[in-house]
Amino acid sequence: MQENQEKKRSTRARLRYSKTVSYDIESETCPRCHSSSLFDLDTSLDCLNCSLEFNKSELSIYDPENMLAEEEKSNIVALLIRFCLEDIEHSRN
Ligand SMILES: [Zn+2]
Repeated sequence: MQENQEKKRSTRARLRYSKTVSYDIESETCPRCHSSSLFDLDTSLDCLNCSLEFNKSELSIYDPENMLAEEEKSNIVALLIRFCLEDIEHSRN
């Protein structure tokens, strides 16, 4: 239990300070298609092969295989909003 709390705290601390982590784009590959054709967009990396965009600070923390692209995160949020709105609509009827 205590170990889990320390793990969470550690992840939060890394997220907070991750903006200062230096990033070597030359050694990176796309988490999704593994292409090395990446374009540095300041806070994110854009893959020129699959056109997905990944948050740089998350790349330094999470296992690339478990990462979601910015577009994928936006799609999930859009779906959640749609489900919530449909739920509200149903509750009115
Ligand atoms: Zn890619």
